[in-house]
Amino acid sequence: MRIVLLGAPGAGKGTQCKNIVVQYGLLHLSSGDILRQERAAGTELGQKAQSYMDSGGLVPDEIIIEMMTKAIKDAPSAGFLLDGFPRTVNQTVELDKSLTDNEMTIDYVLNLQVDDDTVAKRITGRRSCPKCGAIYHIEHLKPTTEDICDNDGIKLAQRPDDSPEVVINRLKTYHQQTEPLVDYYRKNGTVYDFDADRSPDEVRDSIFEKLDALVKT
Ligand code: AMP
Repeated sequence: MRIVLLGAPGAGKGTQCKNIVVQYGLLHLSSGDILRQERAAGTELGQKAQSYMDSGGLVPDEIIIEMMTKAIKDAPSAGFLLDGFPRTVNQTVELDKSLTDNEMTIDYVLNLQVDDDTVAKRITGRRSCPKCGAIYHIEHLKPTTEDICDNDGIKLAQRPDDSPEVVINRLKTYHQQTEPLVDYYRKNGTVYDFDADRSPDEVRDSIFEKLDALVKT
């Protein structure tokens, strides 16, 4: 199974990805996570990506395409779930070319739909554990002890690009550059829409229901 998960920043892609990869045994390929790992390791790629990420803009296509097509080629045969990639029409075209060269296609595109106001509130309240990556929210998903990760007792942090000013820019970038991909994929008839303005469990259940039905057909 090869899946692309689309949706604005804060639509819940990260949370749903964790659910989907566990349920269907897929490799989770998140371009944002890979970039953050590269930054943390201080690699050349990470340094190049830094300023684009911190401003809420996109890292140049050529850097991302090379990074992600390599990760996809190394993916196991069970399949993968792409999260945060592709994000521009150019990335989508290049992804398609690379998949075709390797006799692969994208089977399903899952599109998480949520309005900008909801997303802005979700993202600016989001906190994560710098060690294990667990995600919390200051109102909706509080840790047992305020500001401390339940798993390892580490102080939670806000991603620098989750600040209110940067979030406005990330949403603008999403509408201009990434939303057109939904129509691109719709032409292939592979897009399935989900109302993401619901609890994470409700969204998860509706995704599983759809994927289970699709797998059976
Ligand atoms: P994310 O965690 O997916 O929200 O990604 C965090 C940041 O990484 C984005 O705001 C971009 O600056 C950068 N990024 C992640 N994926 C891509 C991509 N496919 N193309 C360009 N930039 C990306």
